[in-house]
Amino acid sequence: MVEIKLQDITKEFTGEEVIKDLDLTVEPGELVALLGPSGCGKTTTLNLIAGLLAPEAGDILFDGESVLDVATETRGAVLVFQDYLLFPHMNVADNIAFGLKMRGEGEESRKRKVHDLLDLVGLSGYEESYPHNLSGGQQQRVALARALAINPEVLLLDEPFSNLDANLRADMQKFIRNLHLEEEMTTIFVTHDRDEAMLIADRIAVMNDGIIEQYGTAEELYKHPQTDFVADFFGKANYLQGEIQNGEFSCAAGDLPVHEDLVAPGIKIEEGKELAVMIRPEFIEFASATEDDNCQVHLEGVICEKRFVGERIFYEILVNGQVLQVTVLPPSEFEIKEEVELVLDVNNLWYMEV
Ligand code: ATP
Repeated sequence: MVEIKLQDITKEFTGEEVIKDLDLTVEPGELVALLGPSGCGKTTTLNLIAGLLAPEAGDILFDGESVLDVATETRGAVLVFQDYLLFPHMNVADNIAFGLKMRGEGEESRKRKVHDLLDLVGLSGYEESYPHNLSGGQQQRVALARALAINPEVLLLDEPFSNLDANLRADMQKFIRNLHLEEEMTTIFVTHDRDEAMLIADRIAVMNDGIIEQYGTAEELYKHPQTDFVADFFGKANYLQGEIQNGEFSCAAGDLPVHEDLVAPGIKIEEGKELAVMIRPEFIEFASATEDDNCQVHLEGVICEKRFVGERIFYEILVNGQVLQVTVLPPSEFEIKEEVELVLDVNNLWYMEV
């Protein structure tokens, strides 16, 4: 299994930097998602790793060795695109065996591998089918089988499920996760879908405007974002502005305790320091909904919005001139215009510069 390291990578298109001093380490056998909005540089980063593009500055290392002078075909990485182009005039078996044939592998061995790969991607018996007779999801699985046929040490996937409906997409996500666990390849997966990244990846690199804003597990990014961009990308967030007074955080919600492990790295807590506390909507509750009063801060407000959003009910509540977003499990009897008492769970506060 291969370790992939990007060091101070810069990439320009027509004189404009689209990747800026980017550093990234993917551990051997890790499955990492590059996540971010359209145009932030995900595909460019993947193409740099694959060798389809060369950086203006920086280095790309596979297991400690620079691969900048190594051609795409010999880097040991395969790239599966969004538009998984299969050869239309070849049947499934020939599509999958194409790379093996190019390598001069014998017919018997090719047949065996095609059989095993079709089994792996759940398409046994489809050897003779042609791409136009397959569904989009089946074609994608054939494209994956074709990529896997040459035993890549590194698998690079560029939004491979973006053309699929929700159910097929969920199946393919599970499939990639299981495949990764079985095959132990270092895998990098590009997506702009937060839930997909959270479901599939061991770690997620959140990209924005050519840089990595933060790199970590889904839980780290959700609970402890280092920037408001990451906080907002990972779900709804409330921010309360305030400052440190007498060792506590003084804000519209009152005085909140400041535990060291709930402060973003690099922030020095000192008297008069201005910052914000971020709290996710599910960590604010109606006072009556909870009996445990430990570790909680009480607030009073008026409900200005109530929405049923499936598994949760979403509220907007005006508290001291600021609207807080709150989500609770149904049923919830509180209605618009009602005055309510809320509690903040102080174990789930997160202090950051905003
Ligand atoms: P998406 O999710 O929409 O695919 P992305 O995050 O993968 O976006 P990239 O495709 O890497 O983004 O593009 C990053 C930036 O580089 C964009 O501003 C894009 O317009 C620009 N760009 C990408 N390829 C080229 C190119 N060949 N020539 C000029 N500019 C390019």
